[in-house]
Amino acid sequence: MNSNRTRVAKGGVLVLGGGFAGSYVARELGRTGATIVNPTNFMLYTPLLPEAAAGSVEPRHVAVPLRTMAPDADLVLGSAVGVDPARRIVEVESDAGRFELAYADLVVALGAVTRMPDIPGLCDHAFGLKDIADAIRLRNHVLRQVELADAAPDQAVRRLTFVFAGAGFAGVEVLAELHELVSEALTRHPRLAGIEPTWLLLDGGSRILRQMPEQLAEFAHRTLGERGVEILTGTSLASIEPGVATLAGGRRIETETVVWTAGVTPNPLLRELNLPLDGRGRVRVDETLRVVGAPSIWALGDCAAVPNGATPGETDPATCQHALRQARVLAKNLRRTPRPYRYRTRGQMATLGRRHGVALIGRLPVNGLLGWHIARGYHLLQLPFAARRLRVLADWTTAAMFRRDVAELSFPGAQTAFPTSALPEAPSGPR
Ligand SMILES: Cc1cc2nc3c(=O)[nH]c(=O)nc-3n(C[C@H](O)[C@H](O)[C@H](O)COP(=O)(O)OP(=O)(O)OC[C@H]3O[C@@H](n4cnc5c(N)ncnc54)[C@H](O)[C@@H]3O)c2cc1C
Repeated sequence: MNSNRTRVAKGGVLVLGGGFAGSYVARELGRTGATIVNPTNFMLYTPLLPEAAAGSVEPRHVAVPLRTMAPDADLVLGSAVGVDPARRIVEVESDAGRFELAYADLVVALGAVTRMPDIPGLCDHAFGLKDIADAIRLRNHVLRQVELADAAPDQAVRRLTFVFAGAGFAGVEVLAELHELVSEALTRHPRLAGIEPTWLLLDGGSRILRQMPEQLAEFAHRTLGERGVEILTGTSLASIEPGVATLAGGRRIETETVVWTAGVTPNPLLRELNLPLDGRGRVRVDETLRVVGAPSIWALGDCAAVPNGATPGETDPATCQHALRQARVLAKNLRRTPRPYRYRTRGQMATLGRRHGVALIGRLPVNGLLGWHIARGYHLLQLPFAARRLRVLADWTTAAMFRRDVAELSFPGAQTAFPTSALPEAPSGPR
């Protein structure tokens, strides 16, 4: 490392990544303090990203300022680019230059990136949904397709065909939300009255929402099917060219919109940090969240393979729910004799648009309007800070009272697909 500027992490704890896991570690450390390194000054509440993409929640309201999340922490805007465990130094690159940060304890919470397998055209033509820019970009694009269909009705079938690859929580939720947005937007286009949009949901697995019990996944399947969504399980995307998506098996679909939500893979930077990784590229930690063989380094969240005392032999799935519980234990373990982490999942939920949802509360499956209320209520409670909850509640209330806002939000690159976040698939393969 060649930097000549060295700073010392506040309270000795340096947290790499200010997402769900990292921000909660810093918050839980309270006055002890920590230094967070993150490329942006906010943590993203991702469960509401599909709603931000459809405009029922303001995108800004799902971003929580890190300085509010962890008021006693020091925030360094930038990206970690290297770790020297022998010197206990992390090298950081930022717009203010490159410098070193010294630590006593290092917390690695670098999250995951969208998995990008080698499908021709995927990087150039598909839309992802991993951050706020993705959500705004997708909403702009979808609204623009409606406008362009109106401008040239001979192109309307292609413009109003929407393909979603990946039927996990994010794929199902964003399809359902955008379906509602497009239906509402079309009510303002009498010229397109006779045209029914086409919606396709693909998944390589045998059913949608594989993380959910079968009964709830079936409800979701039926609900989307009744809205005219064609669901193709056991089907994968073969290629994308401008205006055409081709499925494995050869079916060609004329479309301008392919949304890729088929999984995530651990942050590729982990491979350059010389930390022990499992077969999926996640940092290996012991039951106290300490990195195997590295006494002063800890890891958690989507970038770590975290063994859970409540589910012996298994590692935690990549969810906010688990990242938050891991963060609470890790923050305590930094200040005491480390204790093992264990957490029993409380439930799972997904919204399906149009006041429908599915939820699993403990072992109790709930669907329909009640499932929708539970899912929304849960996210509202999980969202940090009363002020932010009120903002989201106000968004939902105005969305219920008035017609949807269909104005595009323009910013440079707003109409392009993946380019900013495109990353080749990590050699580890799918998660
Ligand atoms: C659209 C979507 C919907 C989701 N819905 C749900 C849901 O409903 N329920 C649920 O439980 N989970 C959901 N998830 C999953 C959830 O978002 C993740 O499990 C959770 O965010 C993991 O937290 P994390 O801190 O490990 O990673 P992240 O929250 O991704 O945070 C990683 C952080 O590291 C930062 N970073 C990256 N590289 C560097 C670097 N070099 N230096 C410094 N910082 C860096 C990133 O900018 C980011 O801030 C969803 C995810 C998505 C994408």
